[in-house]
Amino acid sequence: MARYDVVIVGAGLGGLTAGAILARAGRKVLVVERSNSVGGAASSYKSGELFVEGSLHETSDPHDPRDPKHDVLTRAGVIDAVKWIPAGAFYEARGGPLDRPFLMPDHFDAARRALGERFPEVRAGIDQLLGEMQRIVAVMGELPQSADTIENPDDHLRALMRALPVASDWTLSLSQKLDRVFGDHEAVKCALAANLSYFHDDPATLWWIYFAMAQGCYLQSGGRYVQGGSQRLSSALARAIKAAGGEVLLRRVVTAIAVGDDASTITHTAKDGSDPHTVEALRIIGNAAPAALGPLMPAEAADRLAIRELVDAYAYCADRRDAAGQMALFSEDAEFLVYMNTADPTPTQHIRGRAGLAPVFDDLNSYEATMHFNGQNTTVLDGERARGVSYCLAHHLKVGGSDRILMIAAIRYLDAFVKQEGIWYFSQRKLMVDWTETRTLPAS
Ligand SMILES: Cc1cc2nc3c(=O)[nH]c(=O)nc-3n(C[C@H](O)[C@H](O)[C@H](O)COP(=O)(O)OP(=O)(O)OC[C@H]3O[C@@H](n4cnc5c(N)ncnc54)[C@H](O)[C@@H]3O)c2cc1C
Repeated sequence: MARYDVVIVGAGLGGLTAGAILARAGRKVLVVERSNSVGGAASSYKSGELFVEGSLHETSDPHDPRDPKHDVLTRAGVIDAVKWIPAGAFYEARGGPLDRPFLMPDHFDAARRALGERFPEVRAGIDQLLGEMQRIVAVMGELPQSADTIENPDDHLRALMRALPVASDWTLSLSQKLDRVFGDHEAVKCALAANLSYFHDDPATLWWIYFAMAQGCYLQSGGRYVQGGSQRLSSALARAIKAAGGEVLLRRVVTAIAVGDDASTITHTAKDGSDPHTVEALRIIGNAAPAALGPLMPAEAADRLAIRELVDAYAYCADRRDAAGQMALFSEDAEFLVYMNTADPTPTQHIRGRAGLAPVFDDLNSYEATMHFNGQNTTVLDGERARGVSYCLAHHLKVGGSDRILMIAAIRYLDAFVKQEGIWYFSQRKLMVDWTETRTLPAS
C-alpha cells in the first residue's frame, strides 16, 4: 500500500495551498480531486467566446505584507507565479436605497472621503466604523503568522487578547453593528457593504468582526484580480506541489476514510466507482465540505467529529452572545449544572430543561467580551449516547473606565450527549470551575 505523510481530499484553493506548503516543507503529499481539473470554486474556463470566472472576482493584494495571504502564498511558492492586477475601484453599488450609483474606492482614506462626501449627515459614523475596521485589520496583521509562532498557542492567544479592546462590539452581527452606528440610514449601509455576498448571504448572521477583517483587507491594500482568471492560481499551486515531489490525482473520488491511531487509510475510486485504490496517510486534510466528508468516515469517527463540533459550537455561540443558538445545542430535557467549588458536591446552580438556560447565557452580556478557548476533549461513545470531558480556558473581559479586568476561568466540562434524529445534543453539561485568575490588563 502506498504511504504518504499527508493525503488531501479536494483540490480547491484550500487543499492546494496546504498541499504546496507541506510538499515544499518536505512532506510526501497526495491530493485527490474528483473533478477534471484542479481549483474547485476557483476555476475559470472559456465556452466559445465567453470567459467564465467561477468565483475569484477580486481579492485583497497578497503582495501587501499585512495581507493574511502574503505569508501563505509565499510559503506555497506561488505569490509571483501569477500577476495580481489592480481591480481599480473596489466596487460600484447601484439601486436599492441608493438614488444614484456609488463608487467605493480602494484604500481606507479614499473610502472615508467618498462615503463622507456622499453621506455627510452620517460622517461621524463612517469615520467610527472605518476606524474600527482599520484597527481590527491592523491587529490581525500582527497575529503570529509563521509556522514556528503558531505552534505556541499562548502567543496567538495573547495577540488575540490584544485585539479585544479594538473590537468593542465584537459580539455583534453585521446588521446589529450597522444599525448601532447608522440607525435606519439604509443607503450608507448599502454603500459600505454592497459586496456582502462575497462573504455571506445574511448580515443578521454574519459576524461583524469577520466582515471587518475581510472588507478591511480590501480597503487596506486594494482589490486585485488574477490576470487570466483564477484557474491560473489554482494551476500554479498544483505545479508547486508537483515540483516539490507531491502528487495530484484528478477524476478520482475519495469514497472512504478510516481514521487510525498511528495512520489512516483513504480509498479513492474512478468516478463510476470502479478501480478502487487504498493508500495510507499519517495525516488527512479534508478540504471538501464537512457534509461531504462526514459520510466518508465510519459512523464512529463521524459521531466523534459531530460531538467535537457541538462542544466548539457552545464556545462559539457563547462568545457571539447567540443565546438562542447556544440553547439549541441542548436536548429539551437537558440539565446544566455549575460547580464554582469543585470540592463541594452540591452544584452552585442547577437548571433543568433547555428553556431554563436563557438567563444563564444572558449573564455573559455583563462582560465586554469573552473568549472560550477549548482544549483537549475525550469522548466515550455508547450507541446513541456518549459521555465526555472537555477543557476550556474561558476569558471574560470587563471594562470600567480606563481599567480592563480579565478573569480567566479554568473549566472542565463533564458532558453527557444524546443523539436524536441523527443530531447530537448535550443532555447534561456540568461546568466545573477548577480555578479562576483575575488580573488587570495594561492600558492599550
Ligand atoms: C460564487 C463565488 C464567488 C466568490 N468570489 C470570491 C471573490 O471575489 N474573492 C475571494 O477572495 N473569494 C471569493 N469566493 C470564495 C473562494 O472562491 C472560495 O472560498 C475558495 O475558492 C474555496 O476553496 P476551498 O478549497 O475551500 O473549497 P472548494 O473550492 O469547494 O474545493 C473543494 C474541492 O473538493 C473536491 N471534492 C469534494 N468532495 C470530494 C471527494 N469525495 N473526493 C475528491 N474530491 C472532492 C471538489 O470537487 C472541490 O474541487 C467566491 C466563492 C464563490 C462560490
